[in-house]
Amino acid sequence: MLEATLEKPAGQYGDLIARAVRICNAADVMDMNGHVSARDAADPNVLWINSRKASRSTLTAADVVPVDITTGKRIGAGDEPPSEFHIHTEIYKRRPDVHSIVHSHPQHILALSIIGQPLRLVSCVNPFLPEEGAPTFDSAVLINTQARGIAVAEQMGQAGAIVLRQHGTVVAGDSVEQAVVRMITAELNAKLQVETLQMGTPRYLVGEELAVLVKENTSPIIIRKFWHFHEETARTMGALDGLA
Ligand SMILES: [Zn+2]
Repeated sequence: MLEATLEKPAGQYGDLIARAVRICNAADVMDMNGHVSARDAADPNVLWINSRKASRSTLTAADVVPVDITTGKRIGAGDEPPSEFHIHTEIYKRRPDVHSIVHSHPQHILALSIIGQPLRLVSCVNPFLPEEGAPTFDSAVLINTQARGIAVAEQMGQAGAIVLRQHGTVVAGDSVEQAVVRMITAELNAKLQVETLQMGTPRYLVGEELAVLVKENTSPIIIRKFWHFHEETARTMGALDGLA
């Protein structure tokens, strides 16, 4: 099975993940250590992820590597996945609905975690977080062991995101496009939350109003529009140079 996976061209996931990482970088939600993964549609026990060492600014399809989700081993020879790949493998094991994961360390989500404020919805844009806010993993350590990956995945449960205190955040989606848009909109929401906390007590989105917003503001058409906007913004910045 692993050989069959290796015979498949990485192109489909290689280009998509390279593009996704660069779009996140252009949107200021990626840094030198972040990563994006996708579950292989043809083999759900395989994920594709940017390598540990490749620059997130100039990532190409050749820098995207396959990992066996069950064993956590890199499939084949070549560059290794990031040390925090356990985040991805343990969430994929528990969430058949998840097909893409983004992990990075955006500033405003980090700032909220430092003062012990949950990431809660203040923005009507793509409101995918639970009403009570994203769960928080109460540790600042790297998720570089399987035990830590399990702890994060279990605390995340069925949520679309989890905050890692004084470390970063993880978002999950049913596609690479949705996961990327979720990371960008989560950080924009956090920025608004940080700004309004300096002015008073934010009015969080709850109840029936939130239910309507979720129904109307998170559709696949809207996600596609967000992705397209950020992709084209990245392109005009030159952040996609070298990709098709
Ligand atoms: Zn990290």
